[in-house]
Amino acid sequence: MSLVTRFAPSMTGYLHLGHVLHMLYVWGIARAKKGKVLSRIEDHDLARSRPEYEQAILSDMEWLGFFPDLGMTTSNALVPSPYRQSDGAAFYEDKLAKLVEEGRVYGCECSRKEILSNQKKGPGELCYSGTCAQKKLPLKGHTVRFRCSDNEVTFHDLARGECHQMPKEQCGDFSLRDHTGQWTYSFCCVCDDIRHGINLVIRGQDIFSSTGRQIQLFEKLEAPAPDYFHHPLLFNDTGQKLSKRQRSESITQLRETGISPEEVIGRAAFAGGLLSEPHPLSMNDAMALNYLELKGDGDNDSSSILQRINP
Ligand SMILES: [Zn+2]
Repeated sequence: MSLVTRFAPSMTGYLHLGHVLHMLYVWGIARAKKGKVLSRIEDHDLARSRPEYEQAILSDMEWLGFFPDLGMTTSNALVPSPYRQSDGAAFYEDKLAKLVEEGRVYGCECSRKEILSNQKKGPGELCYSGTCAQKKLPLKGHTVRFRCSDNEVTFHDLARGECHQMPKEQCGDFSLRDHTGQWTYSFCCVCDDIRHGINLVIRGQDIFSSTGRQIQLFEKLEAPAPDYFHHPLLFNDTGQKLSKRQRSESITQLRETGISPEEVIGRAAFAGGLLSEPHPLSMNDAMALNYLELKGDGDNDSSSILQRINP
């Protein structure tokens, strides 16, 4: 079976150097393994997604030279598409119906305050204690939660090797849809990876912890889980992840300074530790780098990366 991976930016801001590094991994690994790249618009967050970001992102991708094999491009921007989450409600409804049939979901009426005060002591993230698990509340008008399995999830990460996660202890029964009817990231992205036939997920190590819970969803939806590769991120000079909403860090802004795509790609590759010296990099040379050799360190150690963004 040939490899299909995806580039799935959210429509909540502009692309920045961190996205360029991410695209290098996605296209670089796909090309090295003779696979395909699908581009998808992640706009399940209707309150924060804006159409102008969709256009800017697709335009920046093409200006840089990242052309997907299928999915969204500037030619199908802003028209209905199976590659855009806000057009996927029927598919999500269908998958939710399957989980309902099997008793894997329930309605939850807890406020955030109640969840915080009742939460189990989890390692770092908010862990839902299951307060509403037996209440039999209707799903409509309530948060819809997925009943996590009690078992540990074991999966293979191409960068880290064998990994183990316990969703029940990390986050507890997590939500698939909120009380207003808005789908969540974890549910949409699993459903989309199923409908788009994705068999390798390449993404930043900031969302590594969501892997186990997503694999449980794949299992309950009777779909094969993809393989995973989590790569290091870039940080700005205050040690924070680059922001999509900071126009000053955006590719759109860089383009206005007259910079070339090769310079932008070179900057991202150097910042991410793919080059030992900063210099412009053609797409051909960028695709020849060995992405699979670079291991995520599992920590957000930003110090070395910092110097690389601001040498
Ligand atoms: Zn609840």
